[in-house]
Amino acid sequence: PLEGRSAIVTGSTSGIGLGIAHALARSGAAVMLNGFGDPAEIETLRADIAGDNDVDVAYDAADMTKPEAIRMMVERAVARFGQVDIVVNNAGIQHVSPIGKFPSEKWDAILAINLSAAFHLVQSTFDGMCARGYGRIINVASAHGLVASPFKSAYVAAKHGIVGFTKTIALEGAEFGVTSNAICPGYVWTPLVEHQIEDQAKSHKIARDAVIREVFLKDQPTKRFATVEEMGALAVFLCGDLAGSITGTAIPVDGGWTAH
Ligand code: NAD
Repeated sequence: PLEGRSAIVTGSTSGIGLGIAHALARSGAAVMLNGFGDPAEIETLRADIAGDNDVDVAYDAADMTKPEAIRMMVERAVARFGQVDIVVNNAGIQHVSPIGKFPSEKWDAILAINLSAAFHLVQSTFDGMCARGYGRIINVASAHGLVASPFKSAYVAAKHGIVGFTKTIALEGAEFGVTSNAICPGYVWTPLVEHQIEDQAKSHKIARDAVIREVFLKDQPTKRFATVEEMGALAVFLCGDLAGSITGTAIPVDGGWTAH
């Protein structure tokens, strides 16, 4: 259903972004990958997604903390695909620490990557979408865009912020066929979650092997991690014509966490 469309998915060399990139490509969209990693591994990923789905797949290494790099990524995508129809703001980082000890440079980096990068990317692509009468902005927020947890001050602030930004884009794009929605995952097993185990254990003063049960899945009633395939399927649906009236929403994919 997405043949002829082209997408930029930030932070798509790993985890949820990669899952969404796979799903969009499988639906026929051309995809610009982005994110960090080993260049040879990324090239293999790029070639595999392109070959498996018979779509054009490119890669840009733009650092989401750098507005100029984001603009250049958009220019490259336009040069290669002709236009950008779908933007998935997914790149994100996490830091777990009590407020009193929270490093201010971590606060700045989380706000830059998880929130401001989305503004810069949308700013560079939004007018073109409106002019063509079709556009899809998908912001990968979090259950932490809707509710808080302790020790994640910067992350919760950035994710609540991007839910607000999502709504403003929706209002500005509404008459022009451009929708904007936030996907709000609960815990998904990715490197971002794996890397929290140590700090969660320290901050909550529990053993490392208790973190999964007592922190990650404690508030997730399904008692299992959500999957990147579940995020990809929702993203594809939101890009379709039949999702044209869904805009300005923050959709939990969290196993019931925010139903509490
Ligand atoms: P991940 O660590 O697997 O992937 C993060 C991606 O972002 C990687 O491709 C990485 O290279 C990229 N990235 C990081 N810093 C970057 C930068 N400065 N510039 C460009 N790319 C950068 O993490 P994930 O779990 O897949 O997270 C993806 C998104 O989903 C994030 O926004 C995260 O907050 C959100 N999320 C994750 C979960 C979860 O449980 N995993 C839950 C809710 C929301």
